[in-house]
Amino acid sequence: MMMLTKKMIEIRGLLQTVGQSEALTLPSIVVIGSQSSGKSSVLEAIVGHEFLPKGSNMVTRRPIELTLVNTPQARAEYGEFPALGLGKVTDFSQIQKTLTDLNLAVPEKECVSDDPIQLRIYSPNVPDLSLIDLPGYIQVSGFDQPTELKQRITELCDKYVQPPNVILAISAADVDLANSTSLRASRRVDPRGERTIGVITKMDLVEPERGASLLSDKKYPLRLGYVGVVCKIPQSTGGLFSRGNSNITNAIVRHENAYFSSHPDEYGQGSELSVGTTNLRKKLMHVLEQTMAASLATTGEAIHRELSEATYEYKVQYNERALSAESYLAESLDTFKHTFKDFADHFGRPEVRSIIKQELDQQVLNLLAQRYWNKPLEDLTPQMLETDPLSELPTADPENPIWHLKLDASTASLTKLGIGRLATAVVANTVQTNVEQLLASSPFSAHPSARKAATDASSAILKDLSYDTSDELEICIKPYKYRIELDDAEWTKGREAISNVLKAELKDCESAVKHVEGEIGGRKKLKDVLAFIDRVRSGEVVLEGDGTAGAGGFSAALLRKGREAAFLRDRLDILRLRLAAVQSKQCANKKNKYYCPEVFLDAVADKLTSTADLFLDAELLSKFYYNFPRELDARLGRGLSEADIERFAREDPKIRRHLEVVRRKELLEHVLKEMEALRQIEAREKRYGARS
Ligand code: GDP
Repeated sequence: MMMLTKKMIEIRGLLQTVGQSEALTLPSIVVIGSQSSGKSSVLEAIVGHEFLPKGSNMVTRRPIELTLVNTPQARAEYGEFPALGLGKVTDFSQIQKTLTDLNLAVPEKECVSDDPIQLRIYSPNVPDLSLIDLPGYIQVSGFDQPTELKQRITELCDKYVQPPNVILAISAADVDLANSTSLRASRRVDPRGERTIGVITKMDLVEPERGASLLSDKKYPLRLGYVGVVCKIPQSTGGLFSRGNSNITNAIVRHENAYFSSHPDEYGQGSELSVGTTNLRKKLMHVLEQTMAASLATTGEAIHRELSEATYEYKVQYNERALSAESYLAESLDTFKHTFKDFADHFGRPEVRSIIKQELDQQVLNLLAQRYWNKPLEDLTPQMLETDPLSELPTADPENPIWHLKLDASTASLTKLGIGRLATAVVANTVQTNVEQLLASSPFSAHPSARKAATDASSAILKDLSYDTSDELEICIKPYKYRIELDDAEWTKGREAISNVLKAELKDCESAVKHVEGEIGGRKKLKDVLAFIDRVRSGEVVLEGDGTAGAGGFSAALLRKGREAAFLRDRLDILRLRLAAVQSKQCANKKNKYYCPEVFLDAVADKLTSTADLFLDAELLSKFYYNFPRELDARLGRGLSEADIERFAREDPKIRRHLEVVRRKELLEHVLKEMEALRQIEAREKRYGARS
């Protein structure tokens, strides 16, 4: 039953996908022979195609791991280079070209490389075999060949001719066998001739008697014997065979049979000698099958050891946590959605309200600065500059239309600011920033592409929602553009709120002054610079030029800082003054709104905020909270192909290692199970064979 080799070849293919270690190498047939011994011709006769590199300079520089896979049901013949991902190559001259290129890619200086080329050939005409073609031994170091080449090739071959591999030692009949490099090499590692098959090529080049004596060699007797072949590849240009890409085995065999049957005395039925490519093929299959069977136990043990290592690593490093690329993605997505849900639960109307109010507070401060707080301040607080500010607070004439105009214009500026767009934008931005922060501390942080997909999904949804939301919100606040009524409670609340805003602003301003003071070099220095700037302002000192060169003993940079400090000092004065005004008795009553514009504008901002937060909570937030997780599923869940998911999981080196261990373990378990079954079948066959 010839299925062990096939199964083992399958297993080897599997093991190679997880980076099989040396210990797991399954037996192969290693082909050795000196140059021109006819090595390529033998291999090509077995495969049925010319596919090996040819040329006058040494073209095989890397070992070729040649796996033949018999595909009885298929008609097509093709090759595959698993490492190159070229797919099925049906044109054998293309395979030849690829092999030549791969060989020539080894730099001349290095002579040979021990990095093997993997080539699989699938065909209904090939037997299941695993062969390794090694660079040919060089007998004469030609003057154009590097001196250490011979040594390098010998070392390389020695690596492969170790047990359990079978050696296929090729020698040409027309060369004295005692001089055969391959037989000498094989004898060194297999002195008792237990795992070497001798192949004598070019049998047609010697007299039949001599040929026959070669095949029954007694000097180096081989348990597996010698096979004589005539493997001359038919010349396609000869017109005899016009074969193109078609199989040449039959042509070779016909030619070979013709030769051997023309010498029936030596090679005929009666002789004990083994000749012919067909016999050689059978022998190779048989021997490999036997060797595979013999190595089942040792290979099984080696796989067992690998498995225990993988199991140990799985246990110690990964706590036996099962993992697949799909489960990892699903878990990551779940974890993220969970934290997102948590965020959604805590980011609602009150949070939106505070964001919008803060934004509008700033707008109110800006408006006040533009319309009220600019110097000179006389119009707003005429007496305050001369007298005690706390006793004599603002006394703008409420009948004076200028005060009405000022407040109406300020209110209009605020309501016509484009609150719809502004509020929607700040809330959307805050949400986006939060989503990005959540992503950064989520499992996706190690996956740039997934992180980007999630970020993009979020911003796309927010953008989409913002478009309509800002327009609709603008419509909602429209009534406030015409008329704003405040009740007492709203006024009181506004007064309190703006006091806090002013206090906070005061604090900021004070620390900014401190900062500039530090930069300038202390309080004393700041005072001097400010004094100088005041003298310039009052016209007491006239600067020459634009002051860029410095003045009054101060450098230009110092003056710039000084001006900054002067601005801050003025702002501090105003803020203190206005805070005092807002807190004064007059501002406690809303009928004094014309000289308490801060309170009035804050109350307006608060009204606008109340509308905006309600609307944004319903239209922006809840829609986003509903859509975003679904969009994530679409972009990172269902939407991904198996390859995408694999790529995603492997992006994180930790996960990649974890996946590799899990996979290795699973694969080894699977392989071990298959091998156990094979062993049982083998054992049964043996028993059955023994009985029959
Ligand atoms: P390699 O260098 O060992 O791979 O040898 P090749 O297979 O390239 O063969 C070397 C030369 O010997 C080529 O010219 C082949 O045509 C020729 N050759 C190979 N096998 C035979 C054979 O059985 N009979 C004859 N007459 N020539 C052969």
